[in-house]
Amino acid sequence: MSALSVIDNRMEQMNLRVRPVANHEKYLKHNKNLLKKRKQPRFGVCFDVDGVLARGTIPFKQAVEGLRKLTDEKGELKVPVTFVTNALNRNIDKANQISGWLGIPISPSQLVQAQGPLEVFKEFHDKFCLIIGQGKILDIARELGFKNTCTLDQIIDAYPLLDMINHDNRRRIATEGYVEKEFPRVEEALYKKVTGKPLVYTSLIGKPSEITMRFAEHCLSREAKKLNYEEPLKRMYLIGDTPEVDMVGANLYQRYINRLRDRQQKLIDTNSTTSAKDIYARETYDPELPESRQIPEEAALSKQTVDQIDGLLVCTGVYKPGQLDEEDGDEKNYQGHRDFPRITELYKPAHTFQDVNEAIDYILDKENFHPAQI
Ligand SMILES: [Mg+2]
Repeated sequence: MSALSVIDNRMEQMNLRVRPVANHEKYLKHNKNLLKKRKQPRFGVCFDVDGVLARGTIPFKQAVEGLRKLTDEKGELKVPVTFVTNALNRNIDKANQISGWLGIPISPSQLVQAQGPLEVFKEFHDKFCLIIGQGKILDIARELGFKNTCTLDQIIDAYPLLDMINHDNRRRIATEGYVEKEFPRVEEALYKKVTGKPLVYTSLIGKPSEITMRFAEHCLSREAKKLNYEEPLKRMYLIGDTPEVDMVGANLYQRYINRLRDRQQKLIDTNSTTSAKDIYARETYDPELPESRQIPEEAALSKQTVDQIDGLLVCTGVYKPGQLDEEDGDEKNYQGHRDFPRITELYKPAHTFQDVNEAIDYILDKENFHPAQI
């Protein structure tokens, strides 16, 4: 054996040894990345509360069973989750209530209640604002970031003769058959009568508004970050029981996203030098929407990344099977807000389920993500 062949042999041996080790490390790294990615869900789930998780204050056992599937062995949520409801409470109170029902920790930041988006309307937080509503409204305003507030009761105390807003008138309005849904019309009529000008809505929030759904996405992204997920969310699910609120909310947001993607694509097609930041900036104005439904330019929201939102309808609340078929598109008796047209197409869910547990099974199977198996 010559000296050269010994060296060759050694090199071969070395290579034989080194190569598998290098490949093995690469393989491990690749697998680790895959595993990391696999452990990161690219979706989040928004739950309506009443009629989905509970009826009044009584939780559904299907909700307890279903939500448990989103937790790990420590009983902590592994899927970004928010609770999107048109109720008005302090977030901490609602979070505690839902946490008590489901037996899992819920943080106040996971709540998207009627007032929720006002948290990112920072331009108003230092302005003097009249807060109207029931319950602990000043606490709620403070929780949202408002520093300079007053209530109707404080105005009544300061101006006792201000007849328009006293309790007798409120009672009269109630006994004359005005229902809650008609209050915007009463407000509009009163405003016109007092000022001579039509009432202009700056921002309409609460389901089904695009602003609330955009804020819900913002909250889901925030929850994903808290769970140390780095990949942006691409899909959202909204599980609800009311077609005209929950399903319309999901469908309006999907239309909003579709138009946004079209605008972004057009910008890319027409101007290749446009930076991503400029493209993103265009999100703040959607020419198809009235002013009251525009996402405010100043809103401090995380980047919009979701491409698809599915409305999942459950039968444990308002909706009863077959009900959608009976919708007749009656414009005349429509009691929704004037800035939201009644389009029956928007009432349709992506899928209908018996209850929230079934809806969760569907999502986890579709996403191939089962927190209990991680
Ligand atoms: Mg509901």
